[in-house]
Amino acid sequence: MSDKKVATSPDDRTVIGITFGNSNSSVAHTVDDKAEVIANEDGDRQIPTILSYVDGEEYYGQQAKNFLVRNPKNTAAYFRDFLGKDFKSIDPTHNHASAHPEDANGAVTFTVKDKEGEDAEPSKLSVDEVAARFFRRLVGSASDYLGKKITSAVITVPTNFSDKQKSALIAAATAADVEVLQLISEPVAAALAYDARPDTEVKDKIVVVADLGGTRSDVTVLASRSGMYTVLATAHDYEFHGAALDKVLMDHFAKEFLKKNPKSDPRENARSLAKLKLESESTKKALSIGANASFSVESLADGIDFASTINRLRYEMIARGVFEGITRLVSSVIKKAGLDVLDIDEVILSGGTSHTPRIASNLAAVFPESTAIQSPSTSATAVNPSELQARGAALQASLIEMYEAEDIDQSTHAAVTTVPHITNAIGVVSRSPSGEDVFIPIVQPETAVPTRRTVFVPAPKDGGDVLVRIVEGNTHIKVTQPAPKAAAANGGSRAAKVEDADDSDADESDSEEEEDDDEEKREKVWKIGATVAEAAIRGVKKGGKVEVTINVNADLSVIVTTREVGGKGGVRGVISA
Ligand code: ATP
Ligand code: MG
Repeated sequence: MSDKKVATSPDDRTVIGITFGNSNSSVAHTVDDKAEVIANEDGDRQIPTILSYVDGEEYYGQQAKNFLVRNPKNTAAYFRDFLGKDFKSIDPTHNHASAHPEDANGAVTFTVKDKEGEDAEPSKLSVDEVAARFFRRLVGSASDYLGKKITSAVITVPTNFSDKQKSALIAAATAADVEVLQLISEPVAAALAYDARPDTEVKDKIVVVADLGGTRSDVTVLASRSGMYTVLATAHDYEFHGAALDKVLMDHFAKEFLKKNPKSDPRENARSLAKLKLESESTKKALSIGANASFSVESLADGIDFASTINRLRYEMIARGVFEGITRLVSSVIKKAGLDVLDIDEVILSGGTSHTPRIASNLAAVFPESTAIQSPSTSATAVNPSELQARGAALQASLIEMYEAEDIDQSTHAAVTTVPHITNAIGVVSRSPSGEDVFIPIVQPETAVPTRRTVFVPAPKDGGDVLVRIVEGNTHIKVTQPAPKAAAANGGSRAAKVEDADDSDADESDSEEEEDDDEEKREKVWKIGATVAEAAIRGVKKGGKVEVTINVNADLSVIVTTREVGGKGGVRGVISA
């Protein structure tokens, strides 16, 4: 497979953003710099990633999904993750109720009857071919909607997509006559969709993106520094996801059905099972909005109709194991990044399963109040989690559409991929009123380089020498056990402050200091690390200030400049970190 791309001249492009999932795909475009998800001819914005063939006719999306009941053998589903993989390394678990992947000399193929006529031979379609056909339909409907042919796209991919998987995806899009401007990672697309909102102030922050889909959950910790995203840690889970929640409801309703009809287990017959699954998924979605939902299937098994209801409390009880698995997954990735929940400024819930209120509230319970939990049930301004990735991709597409194809990788890499960054914070040591040395961060950890920050250190009250010590800093979590009686065990030891708008988040944990509950108190405190530079500015006048500028170069070397504000000269140090 080659990386051949269709190259379109920037003037002739019509661009979109695409997210192509195992369960659903979605397309978005921008109108006046705002991203909008495009509905297909069925009115769907989340389009099931499924193709089905009936009498030589090709169906895709929701229509194809409905054929899982009557025509499963000629319906190809859950194939995205097979792109660029050998047959031996795929997990076909989710394909048991549709066309099975087969081994064709190591390549993954599906055998479906895609031609008309009783005795037409079935075709062996490679997964690349299936993906290309699906792309053609997806992009075709979006072209119809826009009234002009779409030429180019930014497509999102999971953070663990290998180069082989990426080239297979590019090849599939190319075969569908779509120029791939860029592949961007799914969590970054989700973060972009939030950060690019016109009313959003872009600040430095650490963001967790929990992408909870149908067949996988991917959690990523991102550092967003000056509008650049750095991936700090990722985890991929194939056990706690939307399909697992469907399964919980399938078992619940199957058991209820069995009570009345002990001889007819709908899970033992393929068609009944498919009906059970489809309806369980709808019931699950309804439970994201309402406190009750109905379940109703005509002829569920052995010709017997079945109707029931379930309330959200009951659902949350039976699905607890899955919900808890998701919470654990999120906690584990934060740990993997070497961080603590107190370090996380924002949690973005992305993917269809993120509509589930209980998942969001369970996560909210793990994080401090200062962490913003972006999900429909926890934030009035949340963006639809099912739309985030397509929107982010569309925004990125509109940013880069004017570049020539060969310039895109270079000119746009930095904005959305891993860039060099510092690991520890860099800051100054300051003396607190209680006489302790405290660390004041100037450049936050995980900041992408090159970068430059300036702070002002006040002179002693009556003027005099100012010693500036620039050090590395890292955080650790200080745990204070509740005092037996109300006793302020540790009065504010972090009083020192630097007049700098940049380091506003250094004080965040202070706001919780007064909380008077029985729980142990956990706060983020800085530890002073290796000294980077020291400078003494002599005889600073009363009320004067010393300006400290830290430049971190692209090669991670650090240049520190200190000077008295209004004074002459300065001290300059070059340090390699
Ligand atoms: P994957 O690649 O993990 O299979 P995806 O990225 O293709 O998934 P998404 O659309 O993000 O797909 O997620 C699909 C899952 O989200 C399905 O299990 C679907 O049932 C579930 N889902 C969609 N909407 C809701 C909702 N409103 N409430 C609960 N779950 C929902
Ligand atoms: Mg997904």
